[in-house]
Amino acid sequence: MARHLHHRTHVIPWQEEALAVGPQRVNSLQERLEALGLDAFLVTLPTNIRYLVGFTGDLGLLLVTRDAVELAVDGRYTEHARREVGAVPVREVRGEWAAALAGLAADYSVGHIGYEGDHVTVSQLERLAEGAPGVQLEPFSGTVLALRARKSPEEIEALVQAIALTDETMAALRDWLRPGVTEREAVWFVESYIRTHGGEAVAFDPIVAAGRNGAMAHARPSDRPIGRQEPIVVDIGARVEGYHGDLTRTLWFGTPTDRFNELYNLVLEAQLTAEDGIKAGMSGKEADGLARAVIEGAGYGERFSHSLGHGVGLAIHEEPRLSQLAEGALETGAVVSVEPGVYFPDWGGIRIEDLVVIEDGGVRVLTRSAKEPWLAE
Ligand code: ZN
Ligand code: ZN
Repeated sequence: MARHLHHRTHVIPWQEEALAVGPQRVNSLQERLEALGLDAFLVTLPTNIRYLVGFTGDLGLLLVTRDAVELAVDGRYTEHARREVGAVPVREVRGEWAAALAGLAADYSVGHIGYEGDHVTVSQLERLAEGAPGVQLEPFSGTVLALRARKSPEEIEALVQAIALTDETMAALRDWLRPGVTEREAVWFVESYIRTHGGEAVAFDPIVAAGRNGAMAHARPSDRPIGRQEPIVVDIGARVEGYHGDLTRTLWFGTPTDRFNELYNLVLEAQLTAEDGIKAGMSGKEADGLARAVIEGAGYGERFSHSLGHGVGLAIHEEPRLSQLAEGALETGAVVSVEPGVYFPDWGGIRIEDLVVIEDGGVRVLTRSAKEPWLAE
């Protein structure tokens, strides 16, 4: 595994992006347009624009027609976009975005345009419809997100780097953590470690939740000191080149209680059962069921109050989902979390989370962090 993260902080990001994003991603969307009955697709979700053409700004319109693509950005981003998107033409928007859309539609002679219904707000849609009256806009859900589910080798390499830095941060936290440190102090340790060791950002607000605070799957850190004899849920991630790490370990100071041992081993068994059993072609619901059956079998089914996992990539939560509602088949190349947990309001939580890539014949676990919960005092 390449461990040159420490030298990456000053790399100009578009030089790497230009290598990672080629025309084949836009081509995959273009190939879908005929089946969708569309002349063009309007992409507005920033991570989708980044995925398709490499632009890392947080506002833009990308119009993909059957044989062309053009990015529209405002003046803040014109130069930035031109450096990042290679051969894709960039149009500077002056004034209304709707007028820019009308101009694009006229220039490419497209009338029937799909848009991202999960992302465009009602008021944005009204403005676009008023400002581009000749254009027929039709909402679609998940069209580009579905393309992102399957990672390229370059994307998996970026994820491996984010995961490696996340593992390194967890190991450093384990060495540093002592009883009496507050959750907020531990969160700051995680954030500063990631930012000073090659991460461009944290992948999400880190969670360090001890005792009863850990009973909430998405706990916020408090000023309460972390004690002995209580479970400590640590859920952290580093972001590297736009890609997100995601790692949970549950830790413990002092002699474990029988209750902790029993529940920890149960969650670990559920996780290992899922990691052994997940296969391409299985539905997200079946994958979720592998871990859920173990926890239900021990009588704690209602304590496993969230889904088993989610895809990660340019977003921390993306397709595919491993949940009781996910009927779609898992594809090779998907990178997903496997994170069963149990939560008790009067005691705390236990969650163990790895990231895995689905390959032919099963999953490969990308996370390397130790799973022993014991911390030296
Ligand atoms: Zn997590
Ligand atoms: Zn997660």
